[in-house]
Amino acid sequence: MKLAQAVQGIAPSGIRRFFDVVSQMDDVISLGVGEPDFGTAWRVREAAIYGLERGRTTYTTNQGLLELRQAVGGHLRRRLGLDYDPETQILITVGVSEALDLALRALLDPGDEVIVPQPCYVAYAPCVVLAGGVPVPLTTGPETSFIPRPEDVTALITPRTRALLLNYPNNPTGAAPTHAQLHALAAVARRHDLVVISDEIYDRLSYEREHIAVPSLPGMAERTLLLNGFSKTYGMTGWRVGYATGPADLIAAMGKIHQYTALCAGRGAQEAAIEALRVPDRDVQAMVDDYDARRRIIVAGLNRIGLPCHLPAGAFYAFPSIAPTGLSSQEFAERLLYEAHVAVVPGEAFGAGGAGHVRCAYATALPRIEEALERIDRFVQSLTPASQPHVANAIVG
Ligand code: PLP
Repeated sequence: MKLAQAVQGIAPSGIRRFFDVVSQMDDVISLGVGEPDFGTAWRVREAAIYGLERGRTTYTTNQGLLELRQAVGGHLRRRLGLDYDPETQILITVGVSEALDLALRALLDPGDEVIVPQPCYVAYAPCVVLAGGVPVPLTTGPETSFIPRPEDVTALITPRTRALLLNYPNNPTGAAPTHAQLHALAAVARRHDLVVISDEIYDRLSYEREHIAVPSLPGMAERTLLLNGFSKTYGMTGWRVGYATGPADLIAAMGKIHQYTALCAGRGAQEAAIEALRVPDRDVQAMVDDYDARRRIIVAGLNRIGLPCHLPAGAFYAFPSIAPTGLSSQEFAERLLYEAHVAVVPGEAFGAGGAGHVRCAYATALPRIEEALERIDRFVQSLTPASQPHVANAIVG
């Protein structure tokens, strides 16, 4: 059948293809997909069950339940000092995924450009293309802790540049900018009148410093679309619920598309999300502390093995360099899977700058992470001397 060229040009997600293989194998420790191992809290599941029992099985308003929008507004005010009107500035979506798609379709005319710092979440560039836009990759690397330099952003701006797509804490690098770095990027956006689409889905998983929301910076609320959701913080990946907040005209435009495509996010998921926002901070903090302990162990372990790995500031991913092995990241990931039964994701899957790295998610229980580290160690030691890393040179702390 003849299919649309834009779709034909898009490669299937490198992550999914890899994990189809993993699902066929026994005894694999997966440091692969970014899926929290903390399930949805019982009080959240019960809220959804209760809603079902009360017969709340209908559509909701297109923008999402007002009670949920109010809860999101209250949550953002309390945690990040942001002020959004639940009536006009908050849209409940089918995860951050749908919110991103709506944002790009609402903003872009054919040929408009979006600057996408990479390595980045696998959906960004394809979604820009599907919205008729042109993704402009901005390669980042360990020398800037995977944070783009303002001058590098400026160098890519053309009359067609419409938006800058940011994601901190970052998937796959775990990077999060300092206050000064974020201020500098915001200044570029203001100077060149860019919209910032800020995917802050990992905001609660910030270990090194308080998370800074892009719209909280001076002059940024009016040009930033903030995306967030429930998948990562509340272990709710399968519920498919998230939200977008931002300028009322952009939210209204996104709402127009949403009403004809998704109609509304699932009602049960919305009921559950209201309850998720009531989960006490101390429960979320306990989860963050757990991830933090794993983070330190996996990063120390990878460096000890001779795979240089910076300490990620947020999210639940370590992004070590596998360059000392002499293998490409695709080869490394494939051989590690088949020979040592550990699944990691080749860095190329995340775009420019990903080559020479692999992504290891530490959303897996600590004993499994420790076992995975032993397997990785044995695998690396088994490589021929020419491709073995020189441990002393490789450790970067
Ligand atoms: N954004 C980032 C950076 C992600 O890593 C993911 C999932 O891995 C998503 C968005 C998808 O979020 P959701 O489950 O809310 O659609």
